[in-house]
Amino acid sequence: MRSFTGIAASPGIAMGKLRIVDRRRAVVSEYPIPSETVGHETARLAQAIEDTRIELEILKTRLAEINGQDHLFFIETHLMILTDNRLITETSEIIRSGMINAEGALRRTLHRYRETFSRIDDPYLRERISDVETVIERVLRSMSGEAVEPFPEHEEQIILAAHDFSPADMLQINRTNVLAIVTEIGGRTSHTAILARALDLPAVMGAEGITDLALDGRAVVVDGLTGAVIVDPDKEAFQSSLLRKQQYEHVEYELLKTASLPAVTRDGHLVNLRGNVEIPEEGAAVLLHGGSGVGLYRTEMLFMNRATMPDEDEQTRIYQAMQQAITPHLLTIRTLDAGGDKLLEGMAQAVETNPALGVRAIRLSLSMPDEFRKQLRAILRVSADGPVRIMFPMISGMEEVRAAKALLEEAKTELAARGVRFDPAVQVGVMIEIPAAVTLADLLAREVDFFSVGTNDLIQYTLAIDRTNGQLSHLYQPLHPAVLRALRRIVQAAHGAGIPACLCGEMAGDPLYLPVLLGLGFDELSMGAGSLLRVKQVLRRCTLEQSAILAEGCFAFSTAAEVEKYLNSQLTLDFAESTD
Ligand code: PEP
Ligand code: MG
Repeated sequence: MRSFTGIAASPGIAMGKLRIVDRRRAVVSEYPIPSETVGHETARLAQAIEDTRIELEILKTRLAEINGQDHLFFIETHLMILTDNRLITETSEIIRSGMINAEGALRRTLHRYRETFSRIDDPYLRERISDVETVIERVLRSMSGEAVEPFPEHEEQIILAAHDFSPADMLQINRTNVLAIVTEIGGRTSHTAILARALDLPAVMGAEGITDLALDGRAVVVDGLTGAVIVDPDKEAFQSSLLRKQQYEHVEYELLKTASLPAVTRDGHLVNLRGNVEIPEEGAAVLLHGGSGVGLYRTEMLFMNRATMPDEDEQTRIYQAMQQAITPHLLTIRTLDAGGDKLLEGMAQAVETNPALGVRAIRLSLSMPDEFRKQLRAILRVSADGPVRIMFPMISGMEEVRAAKALLEEAKTELAARGVRFDPAVQVGVMIEIPAAVTLADLLAREVDFFSVGTNDLIQYTLAIDRTNGQLSHLYQPLHPAVLRALRRIVQAAHGAGIPACLCGEMAGDPLYLPVLLGLGFDELSMGAGSLLRVKQVLRRCTLEQSAILAEGCFAFSTAAEVEKYLNSQLTLDFAESTD
């Protein structure tokens, strides 16, 4: 028996067989080479292609042994791409004419393929660029001495472990045979963790050492409630985990019975509890857990794992699917928040030294106005059929809001010219997640219809703590006095301008913070569907009056630890019971 302790990133307990996969992207750079090494670089390329071919043949045999011949199609396709002569001749030509190293040349070949594929009309064929990318990535990994493995496709009851999974990887996980995930890095508010919760997939992150190949295939228990991972559990450990699993599932089941109760405090104050969603399937889960609509629809997932950007009609269809899933409730659609830890395949994005401070979110959208208006038109189109709000992410100042609103007006004009219906008075809000937006909150509040605080990023940028860095997770403190002061200021600015203050970061889903957020005056909290019932249970035990006093009391303390101690001492029996 061997134990690991990581961060409890997505609740639930699972038992299965550990499968270790390697998801790191090859890090390659391009550099000039002297003419005498051209031959050497070309030979390195040929060798890497051959090594990759052998790797794929071995994998094919292994999969055939496990699953028979049925599911080997994807490996056959990859072998075909790899052994196509053009890959080697075109890349060798780039090495020769550009006088650059083999890795750099291979990246350029990939770029050319991307351009060619993007011009293909047939969407299915166009999407095949992802196979080319996988193959080239594999060759690049081979050149850097690392091997890459696809997700195991057809094994039963497995728990996937990797150094890290990207959000794009998460969307490819087959929920029917993958019971949980474990990573070596990552934090609770990373997008990978958010997606794990969205997929109802128990997850532990930051379990250093879990990718030790000696552990592959071993029996494992993953506890997404405590962050514990036990390999080869003995009988006692297995049985106590099984019992905890049953208890957890029983409490979940009991909580579900409270879904239709209203989200009001004991003194009759209503707070809108809404859901955060990424894919239309989650809409139903929000309603099932009693959410009154969607407070955050992260649309970027729709742009992932594909070679080209979705067009207006495709986006409209997906937003409609989400709308239908939650009808007749409000749908808050956030415009594309890509970049940072969410990279898109279909766009050439420069490698940035500091992606979290780079071309992310609204900056990215404003840098490609045609694509941005396309998304705005698609959102506007669904606003004709039900209540919709538009929300802009990562706003840092007035210029960005005004530029985004100007493009929204253009999108409206374009639709009107086409005679397409939309809600001309659709509500527009901004996410407050950058300290500059907190400082400017009074001005921003005059420009928009609502605020939504993205605490995941606001904490990251206020405290300068990378939200994806598991090693810093103890410093990622929602109760830090600087964060609490920012939250108070945001609510005051919103209410000063007569607009609602919403909060849609992960902080909204933690019942411990509910009395503070309620006391600060938030009008709406939006969270993963799985948190709605617990938060509502605590809300229904609070009064607004007590919570306001409690929240005010937090400002007497100067460290997060002191605030937390104070909160725990105040939230005696009543709340302690509700977080069981
Ligand atoms: C946030 O930053 O709190 C937020 C809700 O947005 P995301 O997690 O998608 O960055
Ligand atoms: Mg954010």
